Amino acid sequence: MKKIDPAGLLALPLVDQLSGCLEALGKAGAMRHCASCLEDARRAIEALGGRTMEEHLEAAGLSVVDAEGAACPGSLLRAVLDLDGKRITVYGEPMRELEEAMERFPLSFGEPPRRIVLAHELFHLLAPGCPPERAEMSAHLFATLLLKLPHYAGLLDAAHLAHRRGRAEA
Ligand SMILES: [Zn+2]
Repeated sequence: MKKIDPAGLLALPLVDQLSGCLEALGKAGAMRHCASCLEDARRAIEALGGRTMEEHLEAAGLSVVDAEGAACPGSLLRAVLDLDGKRITVYGEPMRELEEAMERFPLSFGEPPRRIVLAHELFHLLAPGCPPERAEMSAHLFATLLLKLPHYAGLLDAAHLAHRRGRAEA
């Protein structure tokens, strides 16, 4: 796996950020899904019909529940959508780690990490049938477009991972 340099990736346009991000994560092959993922994201935005993320979560009867700790020990997973239980569980430990990672980021995403994470989960709610090989990239693109983020939301994974590795090496 290549060394992740989220700071360097930030200077690039969206599609290049996405490609650089996948490469850094050792998933360069997933780039072939890029056009379909953009299409998935746009379709999910249309499905919102102009509602905001908060309005849609409320209309869908979904509650956001905060949990201490992690989904499983050492997991980077920040939130889990439970369609049957109608809730999104946000995990305190990886969220705090992500917040730290974003504070050390050279540029701002202009949104609190929690909103970006919830927007990502909203995609999974809107598009439960999205093929697994596309779902994560599509969800990141959806969050990027919905919240009009200045950078590809998937960079947060790279930043989170780089931050954790930096701490482990320190
Ligand atoms: Zn996801």
